[in-house]
Amino acid sequence: MSTLDIATLTAWIDAYRDAIAEHKDELTDLDRAIGDADHGSNMARGTQAAAEKLAEAPPATVADLGKAVGMTLVSTVGGASGPLYGTFFLRFGVGAGAVSELDGDGLAKAFRAGLDGVLARGKAELEDKTMVDALTPAVEALESGGDDLVATVSAAADAAEVGRDATVPLVARKGRASYLGDRSAGHMDPGAASTALLLRTLAQVLAA
Ligand SMILES: [Mg+2]
Repeated sequence: MSTLDIATLTAWIDAYRDAIAEHKDELTDLDRAIGDADHGSNMARGTQAAAEKLAEAPPATVADLGKAVGMTLVSTVGGASGPLYGTFFLRFGVGAGAVSELDGDGLAKAFRAGLDGVLARGKAELEDKTMVDALTPAVEALESGGDDLVATVSAAADAAEVGRDATVPLVARKGRASYLGDRSAGHMDPGAASTALLLRTLAQVLAA
């Protein structure tokens, strides 16, 4: 496969909703350790609403899809995650543009635009123990990937999981977890965990 169309991107959002629902308690437990125990329920509510939005009003372009998902996440997900995931998808759509499909380069550009939006919004850097730690290596893998989207996105999902796991020993420098100081070490960041699911579900949809 060398391009991703709107139907496939919509299937990705559906698969992400399903994966978040499946891992909801796990995400909440991670957030209980270093945050306020709402990441699983927040993301479940937001991804459910985003999938419903796409079903009600199917987008014609990737820009429209990113806008619909992003606006829905901003308005339905509480805490820091709503604005950050919302910004990711809004910028993803802008980065993709008014196109009906993405090739490998287009997907990498959209993801890079999304990451830049998250960085600007959250002011986080690598190793602050946030979603950026999973998203950055994934974007780099997409940028260095070839035309085989299945292989490229699979590598990006692997990279996101490595980045997610690398958050465990880190001391948080952003968000609520940073209030814990050194006690935040030894726990996986919940935002990095939900971001790794975002990449893995895209890989699964492409491989299906
Ligand atoms: Mg929270």
